[in-house]
Amino acid sequence: MFESLEMTHPDPILTLSEHFMSDTNPRKIDLGIGLYKDKNGNTPVMESVRIAESSIVDRAVDKVYKGSSGLDGFCDVISWLLFRARSNLIEYGRVLSIQTIGGTGAIRLAAEFLKQINPKKGVWVSDPTWGNHIDIFSHVGMQVSYYPYQEIGGDLNFPVMLESIRKIPEGDVVVLHGCGHNPTGFDLSKYQWGAVLEVVKERGLFPVIDMAYHGLANDLCDDVYCVELFSDHLDEMLVAYSCSKSFGLYRDRVGALVVLGKSRDSCVKAKLHLARLARVSISSPAIHGALIVSEILSSPDLKRMWVGELNLMSIKIKAARKVLINEARMQGCDDTFRNVCSGVGLFSLIPVGREDVGMLREVFCIYMLDSGRINLSGVNNNNVGYVVSSIKTLLG
Ligand code: PMP
Repeated sequence: MFESLEMTHPDPILTLSEHFMSDTNPRKIDLGIGLYKDKNGNTPVMESVRIAESSIVDRAVDKVYKGSSGLDGFCDVISWLLFRARSNLIEYGRVLSIQTIGGTGAIRLAAEFLKQINPKKGVWVSDPTWGNHIDIFSHVGMQVSYYPYQEIGGDLNFPVMLESIRKIPEGDVVVLHGCGHNPTGFDLSKYQWGAVLEVVKERGLFPVIDMAYHGLANDLCDDVYCVELFSDHLDEMLVAYSCSKSFGLYRDRVGALVVLGKSRDSCVKAKLHLARLARVSISSPAIHGALIVSEILSSPDLKRMWVGELNLMSIKIKAARKVLINEARMQGCDDTFRNVCSGVGLFSLIPVGREDVGMLREVFCIYMLDSGRINLSGVNNNNVGYVVSSIKTLLG
């Protein structure tokens, strides 16, 4: 059977990371994979995570299975983290969460669930978007289409985006990035979220909000604006939540799919269906990282510490944007880095072609995605001059 397989390619983002690791040039700079990096280019374990982890390891009495919906305590703290300002929804039973294998697992579960409920519905993602959105929804057999988001090499094209969403067939699924849009870094303003909500209501669209960078675009409150707004006006939606970046738990694979339903009964039913779907793919999720998150979020001291660390990360990403823009100004090529000014969160797209990206990697040992997406936290005072001058040299 394997002889007849067609050749396929490994995932470009993960492969890029492997190439970076094996590059022996001391000048190498990683602006590729979406990891938060400190000023030395490292991704250290957060202090709150370290404390919570050692406490749960010390207290562990067993490692027996949990159910398909994961750790109840974790599901509760994630619902509260997202809907703290809408606690009535939790109290009415209109919000329930199920634990997943990272944000990816949440998107996958959402896709399978939506496909099962209505096999004919299509799904709409932003152009551009995180590549795995397209792969996951296509994989479950949903027709994936695009709404424009960024003008080629330019700004967020909101009027065109909105008009395009207005034309989506009634009842289709629309995927929206909650904050820190990957890859553009362009988030919607409050006014723009309001306009999208109106169209979502008008067309009866079903929103899936992907929340993979909570706290890293602005802060924990600001970053859930769209979740709160949509939950004030809609009966149903799904939020795919990732703990990978905001808790630095990347390889522990912690996430949740959060259900907003019309009633307690419908939420319970939805969660049971999701648990059945989880059972046939993963049986039950990995608990270690979920224990860490629930330990942090249920201890006031640890939570305070985590919020402080997260805020600092967010501030540092903003500072890295400034450092890059200032350097670009000094070197007289600020136009190339124009998008960096108006974006938030980890990412920005710079206007370089695939070949330029290859040259940057081969000649200058600067690693970024083929799309020109850069991870701002990889830029620091030590490497910014080299990053800007290399890109400037290449683009002439
Ligand atoms: N959604 C988006 C937009 C992402 O960028 C990512 C991570 N790159 C995910 C979801 C998935 O996150 P996780 O690593 O938790 O699976």
